Amino acid sequence: MDKTVAFHTLGCRLNMSETGSIAQGFVNRGYKVVEFGVPAEVTFINTCTVTDGADSTCRNLIRKAQKNSPAGKVVVAGCYAQMEAEAIKKMQGVDLILGTNEKFKVFDYLDEDEANQINIDKSNEFWGAATTTVDSHTRAFLKIQDGCNYICSFCIIPFARGRSRAISVQEAIIQTKKLVSEGFKEIILTGVNIGEYESASGEKLVELVKGVVEVQGLKRLRLSSVEPNTITRELLEVLKASGKYQDHFHIPLQSGNDEILKSMRRKYDVAFYKKTIELIKSYFPDASIGADTIVGYPGETDKQFQETFDLLSDLPITHFHVFPYSKRKNTTAVKMENHIQNDVKKQRVKTLINLGEEKLASFAKKMIGSESLVLFEREKDGYFHGYTSHYLKVRLRSDSNLKNEILSLKLSAIEGTNLTGTPQAK
Ligand code: SF4
Repeated sequence: MDKTVAFHTLGCRLNMSETGSIAQGFVNRGYKVVEFGVPAEVTFINTCTVTDGADSTCRNLIRKAQKNSPAGKVVVAGCYAQMEAEAIKKMQGVDLILGTNEKFKVFDYLDEDEANQINIDKSNEFWGAATTTVDSHTRAFLKIQDGCNYICSFCIIPFARGRSRAISVQEAIIQTKKLVSEGFKEIILTGVNIGEYESASGEKLVELVKGVVEVQGLKRLRLSSVEPNTITRELLEVLKASGKYQDHFHIPLQSGNDEILKSMRRKYDVAFYKKTIELIKSYFPDASIGADTIVGYPGETDKQFQETFDLLSDLPITHFHVFPYSKRKNTTAVKMENHIQNDVKKQRVKTLINLGEEKLASFAKKMIGSESLVLFEREKDGYFHGYTSHYLKVRLRSDSNLKNEILSLKLSAIEGTNLTGTPQAK
């Protein structure tokens, strides 16, 4: 069999960036990356365990990988592997199970003959920066931090990824320079809780951002999710002054009710969240804002859900990420009483998703007539697809190759879920 490897990644952007780094390691060793589902010497599944839905998707993917590539090795790695290695071991056709740290050392284990082996390390070693390289994306995800020291009652991540640790500012700058020299124009700083970024020598996120934005040739910078309690005036000032930070923030909310936020052990209340959004808007008045919300948390009443709905309606939140509460082993919330029935959760999810779609569509509509710089990432059926600074999807028909080009577009219409427009002279 040729040296081929197929990947499937579940979960967050961090996982995606980590797959990119691992894929690069395979490519450096002479492997060709093939599509997931075709026979490959190695099929690598980078798993997620954030909900029980994610767990069951992982198990389905393992079965699929085994069926499609019976002669190849199936590697199951990442968060679900870290938490449920023994359950995965019982599944047919799994050759290697690697935890959240070991997945980066896959090459050390691949040559060993022992089938179905588990390699899970509970230490907090940090495994370096990562970028996307295997998919068609032209944005690079730079992992600056891993793990989380918070203990939100519903969250399994601290168990799966351990305590917070980070790369140095210097390393982040070196990685950014490398990515820019490879042609990447946009970098997204990622991690589990990047607002809590702190290097071994005590530097905070703001110092890292100061260093990264200075890198010549970097055109666009984004931050992945940032906890509201970690957004500071100083950080916003640096982002604004850089002229490179894009008009989009992702600030998790989780609930619009103070009692629920307290029970979740979130580090803010509704009033603080509102102030954070106001503060962001005072620096980036046009910014679009994304928020994660969990509905159906144990004990969540109709009234409490309504408060979340009302808050999300009132605030300038444009990008909704709605999750039904999911029971996770070892967490505090799983032991609580008054778990909410699935059909109620489903209904609440639907209600918020509908609201989110309306708000996103109305935000996109308001952009019609304005000019926006769009980074085009991929081509499909004669259309090039990319994102505006506000993280709105754009598609444009073009005969010339726009991939990895930043074009100024006068936005003129909405086609389905995409904006489109007319390129403006440079
Ligand atoms: S901040 Fe809370 S929700 Fe986010 S990873 Fe940490 S524990 Fe989980």
